[in-house]
Amino acid sequence: MKKIIFVLLIVVGIIVLFPLSSVFTQSSEINILLDQKPLETVVSSIIEDGRIFIPARNIVEALGGRITWFPALKLLNIYIDNHTVSLVIDDPSLDIDGEIVSLEMPVRIIDNRVMIPLEVIKIIAQVETKWDNQTKTLSINTIRPYLLKIRSYSHPDKTRIVIDLSEKTEFKANLLTNPDRIFIDIIGSIVKLEDALKQIEINDGVVKTVRTAQYNPEIVRVVFDLYQEFKYDFFSLTDPDRIVIDVFRPEEKEKAISEALPTKSEEKPTIEPEMTKKRVVIIDPGHGGSDPGAIGPTGLKEKEVVLDIALYLEKLLRGAGISTYLTRDKDEFIYLEDRVNFANQKNGFIFVSLHTNSVLNHRPSAGGIETFVLSSKYIGASAKDVADRENRASRAHPELDTDLAKIIADLEESANIQYSLNFADVVQKKLVKYLKLDDRGVKQAPFVVLKGVNMVAVIVEVAFISNPKEEKLLRDSGFRKNAAQALFEAIKYYIENTPNEI
Ligand SMILES: [Zn+2]
Repeated sequence: MKKIIFVLLIVVGIIVLFPLSSVFTQSSEINILLDQKPLETVVSSIIEDGRIFIPARNIVEALGGRITWFPALKLLNIYIDNHTVSLVIDDPSLDIDGEIVSLEMPVRIIDNRVMIPLEVIKIIAQVETKWDNQTKTLSINTIRPYLLKIRSYSHPDKTRIVIDLSEKTEFKANLLTNPDRIFIDIIGSIVKLEDALKQIEINDGVVKTVRTAQYNPEIVRVVFDLYQEFKYDFFSLTDPDRIVIDVFRPEEKEKAISEALPTKSEEKPTIEPEMTKKRVVIIDPGHGGSDPGAIGPTGLKEKEVVLDIALYLEKLLRGAGISTYLTRDKDEFIYLEDRVNFANQKNGFIFVSLHTNSVLNHRPSAGGIETFVLSSKYIGASAKDVADRENRASRAHPELDTDLAKIIADLEESANIQYSLNFADVVQKKLVKYLKLDDRGVKQAPFVVLKGVNMVAVIVEVAFISNPKEEKLLRDSGFRKNAAQALFEAIKYYIENTPNEI
C-alpha cells in the first residue's frame, strides 16, 4: 500500500511540476521552401498563436546573413545586407540600424531554440511569401538581386552601358537583327529601379535606347536598340557588382578591340576570394604611430613587430581564401574604439589583436606566451598589468568606468566569451607549439579593444619584448613568420570546427 501511495505521489508530483497546458499549446509543424528549395533547419518551423516561427539562425544564414546571440542579455544581433538588426527575446520590437519597428509578435525561445516570427524576415530581407494551407507549406522567395541603376557613356569608339546590381548574378547576352538590337537577360528584379531609368534615350549613333522590363518573375531583360548591327562585348565587375556592355563603332573596330580591356582602374575586373562575407577575420596589430607600445632593451618596438606578424598572417589567410582585414597596415596611431568600430563594420567573425608583452619592473627574465579574453575581472597572474598597458590608447582611458564594467559583466556569460575562450585555447596551444616559449596560459581581463567587438575576440601577447632573449627572437623574421603560421593554423582550425548552432 505504501508503495502505491508513493507511486501516486510521484505521478501527482509530475503533473504539478509539468503543467499539461504546455503539452496542449496550439502549435503545429510546417514546411518552409526558400526559393523553391526546402529550408534545412535544426528544429521544425511552427505555427504558434496563429503566427509562423522559424529557427532564427537557419533562416538568417540561408538568406546570407549572420547572427550573434548573447544569452545573458537575451539579445540577438543579425547582420544582413549591410543592416544591423537587434532583437530581444519576448520584446515585440526590432531595432534596424538604430530605428525601432514594433512587431506583432516578439522573438521567442521555443524548445530551447531562438525562433523568429515571419514578420521579422519580411522586414530584414527582400522576400515575397506565399502560404499553402493544404500542404502546410510556406514559400519564401527572395526578390534579390535587383537592378539599382543603369548608366551610359558615349565614347568616340564605343558606347558603354553599365548596369549596377545589388549583388552578383547570372546573365546572358544575345544579338538580334531586324531591328538590330542586343538584349541581356539577368536573373533579378527591377523593383528598385527608378522609372526614369527603365527607358533611357541615348541616340549617339550607336545605341538608340536602352529599355528594361521584368521579362518573367526571375529574369530582367535589358534591350539595347541599335542603329545597325554592331560588334559588342560584355563582362561583369564586382565591388560594386555590375555588368558592363560595350557596343563598338565599326570604323573604330580594330582600335576599340585593343582597348576592350578598360584602362580606368575603376573598371578593372577584380578577383574575389571564395569565402567573401563569410567568417571574416580582423587582424589588429596593436599600437602604431605615436604609440610605439612596449620597447625592448635594445630598442625594438612592439608596434613594428606586431605589424610585421600581422602582414604575414594576412598573406596566409588570404592565400587560404579567408576574408581578412587589418585595422592598420602601416605605422599609424588608431584609437582602440576606432579599431572596434572597424571590426564591427566589417562584420568580423574573429578578432585577433596582436601584441608583445613586457614587464615594467625588475623581472627581465619574465617570458612566454599569453592569450587574453575579455572579462570584467582580472583572471590570471599579471593580467592587470597587461590590461592597463593595452588599454592606454583608449579615449575613455585610463579608468574603466563602472558602466563599462557592468556591460562587460553582462556579456561575460555570452556565447562570444565562451567562444573566445575556446578560440584562445587553440591559439595559445598553436603558439606554444611553434614558438617553443613558456606557456603562461589563457587569461582574462577587461580590455577596451575586446569590449565592443561583436565577435570572437582575443589579444595575443606573442612573447616578452622586455626579455633580452625574447626580444632577439622577436627581431628575427623566421620567428615572426612562425608566429603568423601558428595564428593562421589556429584561425583556420577554429573556422572549420565552429558549429552554426545557436
Ligand atoms: Zn601592446
